[in-house]
Formats: sequence, structure tokens, C-alpha cells
Amino acid sequence: MPANAVLVHHPEALQYHFYEEHPFNPLRLTLALDLLEKCGALDEQQIVRPALAAGMEELLRVHRKDYVDVISNLSANPPAEHWIAQAGQYGLDFEDTPYFPGMHQVSSLIAGGSLYAAEAVMSGQALHAFHMAGGLHHAFPERGAGFCIYNDTAVAIAHLKEKYKARVLYIDTDVHHGDGVQWIFYNDPEVCTYSIHETGKFLFPGTGFVYEKGDGDGFGTCFNVPMEPYTEDESWMESFTHTIEKVTAAFKPDIIISQHGCDAHAFDPLSHIHCSMSIYRDMPALIHRLAHQYTNGRWMAVGGGGYDIWRVVPRAWALVWLEMSGHPLAASIGPHSRLPEDWVRHWSAHYEEGLPETWLDDTSPWPPMPRRAEITQKNKEIAQIAIQDL
Ligand SMILES: [Zn+2]
Repeated sequence: MPANAVLVHHPEALQYHFYEEHPFNPLRLTLALDLLEKCGALDEQQIVRPALAAGMEELLRVHRKDYVDVISNLSANPPAEHWIAQAGQYGLDFEDTPYFPGMHQVSSLIAGGSLYAAEAVMSGQALHAFHMAGGLHHAFPERGAGFCIYNDTAVAIAHLKEKYKARVLYIDTDVHHGDGVQWIFYNDPEVCTYSIHETGKFLFPGTGFVYEKGDGDGFGTCFNVPMEPYTEDESWMESFTHTIEKVTAAFKPDIIISQHGCDAHAFDPLSHIHCSMSIYRDMPALIHRLAHQYTNGRWMAVGGGGYDIWRVVPRAWALVWLEMSGHPLAASIGPHSRLPEDWVRHWSAHYEEGLPETWLDDTSPWPPMPRRAEITQKNKEIAQIAIQDL
């Protein structure tokens, strides 16, 4: 496969940080990029730095004007009392997604990165693009939620529709339901949203059930595959493969945009799914294949959630890039493939609990999940129901 892929990264995206102890920690971007550099999988020429943040016109295709105004004004340090008093009604006043100085600037820069990636792929400048800092899928038109301020991916999708009249398939593999993107395009037959996640019965944001299928003209272009808590690799991949292949074949997109939150890993502190790193090798590989089969290769990827920033995120996102760029390592990663020693050595000094030394996890010491058969059966049934109309 051609290796015409770009990695979109702006160093200032590292300013997207709510406060010191907040789980959404931009250090994970540095760790992932450094891992790729240390395995020789990222050339300077492959990294592009988007020159522009998303402008008002682009943000307003998705977000409400009063929301963008509030974000802009809450970005001051300190903001005026008048604006602080309004933070609550826009979801920006408590510990999940609090306002912080400069948040408008950095959030529009991230939206600009996703716009850039979408434009690069759709215009044919690059076949694939990966924007690690993107994927803020919980942001709504009129409020912030779940660590997300501007919905960068929705802004990119709105651009693709406006400029190219493109049919977009959005694939969300974050452990949390991709609610913001789903509701923004819920009535839109040209945008198909697909999300596999831990069931909203137990996890934020509490939505993403199989019966959410779109509305009006958009009915039938929304798919949800909610997994049981303690789902493991085999059942997760079986559910994903079975559903996403059918959805892609039925929708016939012009471009695929995938969100790679990696919080379904057993180490992740914010969810209850029990998968290992192998799903983060296998899902990008499948999406890559689908792109070449259905969209002439047009594939753009973004990051997303992922709160074990040391043991999970760097490997997961490096794997997306290895796959996308057609790096020879991607095809050869097996159960014992080792991470570059200098990466492990360097970052071990900052993380005392022990970094992994291999790309995949040795799951043999992991305790078997009770109720495995029951969980697998339930997931099988749900996956079947999710695509029963196709
Ligand atoms: Zn998440």
C-alpha cells in the first residue's frame, strides 16, 4: 500500500490542558510522537503543522454563536465576572470540562488541525492523515462536555460536506459513546456515524444504545454497538468487524474519518472494558483495509480519549500511524515484538510503575473474566441487532 500519509501536529496543541491533575493530559501526545521517532517511523517530511486555527465561519457550521462567544471570553486570564457567571449553563463550570485561559485559541487550533487533515485527504494531497490531538467527540453545538470544547471532527465533517458534498463515514472506537458527533449529524443522511463503546448503562455519557438510529432523512445512518462491561479482545473485535464491514459496504462513503480513543484498554482508569493492546493493532488495520476497498483510500484519523497515558496511549496511537503509513513494523508486530529500548529507558525515569517493553500485552497473567461466555453472547446479540436493518 502507498505510504502517502501525513501526521498533522501543532506543538501548541499541548496547551489543551484543564489543570495539573486533570486526566486529559497532553503529555500523551509527546510520548506517542517520541515513540514513533525512536522506532524510526516518523520522518520530518511526514509531519505537517497546520498554519491556521479554525475560523469563526468554520466553527459556526457546528457550534452556536453564543457558545463560541462564551468560550472566547472565558479564555481571558482572568475572565470578567459577567462571563464566569454564564460558564455553568454551557457546561464549563465543574471539574470535568472547566474553562481555562486560552481555551478558545487552543481548541480552535485543534479544530484547525482536523480541518487540515480532512482537506489534505479530500483534495488528494495525501491519501491518509492522522491528527492525534483531535477527536473531541463529546462537544455539543451549545455546550462543552467530557473534556471537549469544540467538536473538531464535526467541524471537519461540516467542511467536507460544504466544499465537496462528501458522504462521510465516522467510525468512533473510543470506549465512550461518540455522542457529540452523532447528535450533530443525527438528521443528516450524508453523514453516517458509527460508535462502538461500553454500554451507556454504566458509562458516561449514558447514550449510544442500539435503538439510536438517526432521525428524519438521517434515519438509518447512525449505528451504535454498545458492549458489556468486562468485554475482552476477542468479543470486542468480533463485534467491531461484523458490524463495521456491513455498515461501510451499505453506506458507500467517499471518505472515512476514524476516532481512536484508546480507553477500552484494561488499564484505563475511566472505563470497565477489559481489552488489551491487540485491538489497537487490529482496528486500524481493518479500517485501513475498508478505506482502500470503499473510499479509494481516503482515510483520516483522530485521537480521542485514553487516560493511561504511559502504558496505553503511546503504543495505541503509534500503532495507528504505523498502520496508516504502511511502515514495515505494522505487519510484523507479534506477541513478543519489543518497543525501542531508548524510549522505555528515557520515559521510565518519569514513570515509576514500570512501562511496557513490548508493543502488545502479555495477557497470560491477567485473571480470566468471570461470565466471559455470557458477555460474549450478549455482545453477539447486540451487534446483530445494531445492523439488522442492513
Ligand atoms: Zn473516551
